[in-house]
Amino acid sequence: MKPTEQSADASPVTASRHEPRIIARADHGISRRNISNGALRVLYRLHEAGYKAFLVGGAVRDLLLGGHPKDFDVATDATPEQTRALFRNCRLIGRRFRLAHVVFGREIVEVATFRGIGEEGNADRHIVDGRILRDNVYGSIEEDAMRRDFTVNALYYDIADFSVRDYVGGIADLQQRTLRLIGDPVQRYREDPVRMLRAARLAAKLDFEIAPEAAAPFAELAPLLADVAPARLFDESLKLFLSGHGLESLRRLHNHGLLGEIFPATATALAGPRSAAFGRLLGYTFTNTDERVRADKPVTPAFLFAALLWEPVRGLAERLIAEGNEADVAWPTAVDRIMHQQATRVAIPRRFGLGMEEIWALQPRFEQRQKKRVVRLLAHPRFRAAFDFLVLRAHDEPELAELVEWWSEVQQLDSHALGHHLAPPAESVEGEPAAKRKRPRRRRKPTAAKGSGNATAQP
Ligand code: ATP
Ligand code: MG
Repeated sequence: MKPTEQSADASPVTASRHEPRIIARADHGISRRNISNGALRVLYRLHEAGYKAFLVGGAVRDLLLGGHPKDFDVATDATPEQTRALFRNCRLIGRRFRLAHVVFGREIVEVATFRGIGEEGNADRHIVDGRILRDNVYGSIEEDAMRRDFTVNALYYDIADFSVRDYVGGIADLQQRTLRLIGDPVQRYREDPVRMLRAARLAAKLDFEIAPEAAAPFAELAPLLADVAPARLFDESLKLFLSGHGLESLRRLHNHGLLGEIFPATATALAGPRSAAFGRLLGYTFTNTDERVRADKPVTPAFLFAALLWEPVRGLAERLIAEGNEADVAWPTAVDRIMHQQATRVAIPRRFGLGMEEIWALQPRFEQRQKKRVVRLLAHPRFRAAFDFLVLRAHDEPELAELVEWWSEVQQLDSHALGHHLAPPAESVEGEPAAKRKRPRRRRKPTAAKGSGNATAQP
C-alpha cells in the first residue's frame, strides 16, 4: 500500500482538521467482490443521492487484512431520517446511538451518521463521570474517525473513488498488527470501559498485539467494568466466546487481568488449587466450540457458560460438603450462589441459565444405569449437551472414560435393542448407582459431581 498525498475534499478547513492519508484504489487490496450486495447497494444509493458514503469499521479492517467480513457498516453525512427516505427497507433504531438499519433479506447493513465532537451538556450527548451514555451529535468524517475506538477500526472506504482514508494512522498499525486506541487510553476507557474487552477480543480475533500504552491502564481501570450494564456484557461475552476465537479471547482476558471483572468466579478458580485441570477443561471446551463455530455448526452459550462456571460450582459444593452439608443440599446451594454472583456481572438470559443448571445436574445421573433411569436420561431434552459435557470432563478425569464409552454405545441402540442391553431396573436400593453392583471392576474415586443430580433440576 502506498499513500498518495492529496486532500480528501474541498470543504472548509476547520481548526481541528486532520488531513487524511489517502490510499488510492490501485494501492490497496480491497475488491468490491468481497463486499456484500446489500452494503454496495446502500453505498451507491447514498452516493447517487449526493451524500458521502463510506464503508467503515471492522469490515474495512478485515478486507485490508484479506478476510471476508460478515457484517458491513456504512458511515455517511446523511442523517438517519435522510437515510430512511432513500430506502423502503429501512428502520431507525437505538436511543444511545441512533442508527439506520437497511434490510436485505437476512442481511442488515448498519448506516451511521458521522458522529461529531459536540459540546458537553448538549441534549444530544449525555456524559456522566466521563462516560458516554448517549451520543447523537453529528459531525464531520474527521470527527467521526476520532470517536472510534482503535486506529485500525477508523479506516474509511470511499465508494466515490474506491480509495481508503486514514485519519489516525490505522494503516501503519494494521501493518504492524497493533491495536492502538485513538487518543488518550485512560480517557477512552473511562468513556466506555467495554473498550477494554474489545481490545482483548479484537487482539484475539486478528492475532494482533495490544499497544503497550493501551494495555497499561487495564490494571487500574478494569474495575470500571463493574458499572457496565450486565446485559451489554452478555452481548460482549457472546462476541468474545462464540465468534470462532473463544479460546484466544479467554486467554487474553485472563492474561490482561480482565476476566475477573466479567467472570469473577472463573478467574478465581483459574488461580486456585485445581487451576491446571480447570484450564485444560476450558481448553478442550473452547477449542471444540471454536471448531464448531468455524464449521458453521450450531453451538449453545449454555454449554460454554456451564464450562466456565463448572469448577467454581464444583469447588464450592465440595467445600460445603466438607463443612458437613449433604451433597444434595451442597450442590444446589453452590449452583445458586455462583449463578447469583455471576448475574451481577453478566446477565445470562434465563433460558441459558436453566440450560447450564441442567447440564450440571445431569452429570451424576450418567452414573446411574438402571434401565428406567437410562431411558429417562436418554429422553431428556438436555441429554446431548450434558453428554458432550461429560465427554469434555473425561479428558481430564480418566475414570469417566468407561462411562462415556457405555453411553455412546447405548445411544446407538433402538428401543428394542436397548431393552436387551440394559439390566432390569434396580428393585431395592433406590438412588444407589447400579453400576456399583454390576461393574465391580470399576475402581472409581467419587467424582466431583456426585450427588448433585438428585437435588437440582430433576425433570
Ligand atoms: P467485529 O469484527 O467484531 O464486527 P468491529 O470492529 O466491526 O469488529 P463492531 O462492534 O461491529 O466491531 O463495531 C463497528 C465499528 O464501530 C468499530 O470498528 C468501531 O469503529 C466502532 N465501535 C464499536 N464499538 C465502539 C466503542 N465501544 N467505542 C468506539 N467505537 C466503537
Ligand atoms: Mg463489525
